[in-house]
Amino acid sequence: MGLTRREFVKLCMGSTMGAYLLSVLGPGFGNQLAFAADEKPVVIWLQGASCTGCSISLLNSVDPPIEKVLLDVISLRYHPNIMAASGHLCGEVLEEIARDYKGRFFLVVEGAIPTKDNGIYCTIAENKNIELTMLQAVNVLGNAATAVIAAGNCASFGGIPGAAPNPTGCVAVNKVVTKKPVINISCCPFPPEHFLGTVVYVLTTNKIPELDRLGRPKMFYPKPIHDECWRRQYFDKGQFANYPGEEGCLAMLGCKGFWAMADCNKRGWNNKVNWCIKAGAPCQACSEPLFPDETEPFYGLFPMTNKEKVSYNPVVPQQTNYDYSTSRKSKPETE
Ligand code: SF4
Ligand code: SF4
Repeated sequence: MGLTRREFVKLCMGSTMGAYLLSVLGPGFGNQLAFAADEKPVVIWLQGASCTGCSISLLNSVDPPIEKVLLDVISLRYHPNIMAASGHLCGEVLEEIARDYKGRFFLVVEGAIPTKDNGIYCTIAENKNIELTMLQAVNVLGNAATAVIAAGNCASFGGIPGAAPNPTGCVAVNKVVTKKPVINISCCPFPPEHFLGTVVYVLTTNKIPELDRLGRPKMFYPKPIHDECWRRQYFDKGQFANYPGEEGCLAMLGCKGFWAMADCNKRGWNNKVNWCIKAGAPCQACSEPLFPDETEPFYGLFPMTNKEKVSYNPVVPQQTNYDYSTSRKSKPETE
């Protein structure tokens, strides 16, 4: 049985995720939601060239529990991993949604879209003995949806499947869907809070959230992680860890938190248990189009001299006096 509006609001706002969303979207958000939850939003979830990590991330949602999200908050009509249907039934579902819910459903795309040789390297369904490629499905469904959510770095920017030499010609969703807004939720994997927050924002306001120049909701990708990093005090004091586990800022170990426009420091991962930098892992700027081709070496002082090659300026040289040319001389020998 579905939730009433009141139960829906209670579920969303009484959870860890809800508390985070309230802090981002403002205190009036819960009330707005009460008047917007009449109908569960229909969601189609397609997987292209991906590792399924974004689906796992969604399924890791603890509070609210994922079964509530999938059964009561949204109406998930198609998901390759968790739907019971198989074979031609799947192709028919996609056809029905595109026809019966035109302009009234969300399309979530996980993974990049192979385009080489007309997309034949990623076939996702078959209907009436005709194969459906990911490229065709995203093109047709994307342009029929209310809005398209590109889940994760692969869908937002090409990510790992689109890394050089990119043999299957993988591209981001917004290279295929051109008539509807594409909302990039670009962390790798994508955070479930960003997904639910984006869906309820569209439902409550009837518009898509304000996006940054890379198509990401500004409310979730506000500023570089470095600005309010948990280890920033060490950076400011010039105390750098030289090996994993040593106390200090992780810049010498390959941290790219100055480029990563994300909210991981505030949101946390795995139901707020921890996040990369706090756990001792240097940020790899997985929220950025630079990832992964331009963020190597992953574990070693990042060569800031690369900055001419990238599409936007690193923040650190403008915002601090930190001298990377000097610090590189003392980089760990293990790099
Ligand atoms: S370089 Fe990385 S670890 Fe150091 S303060 Fe910045 S974001 Fe944090
Ligand atoms: S801290 Fe950096 S690497 Fe980790 S999830 Fe956030 S943006 Fe990605």
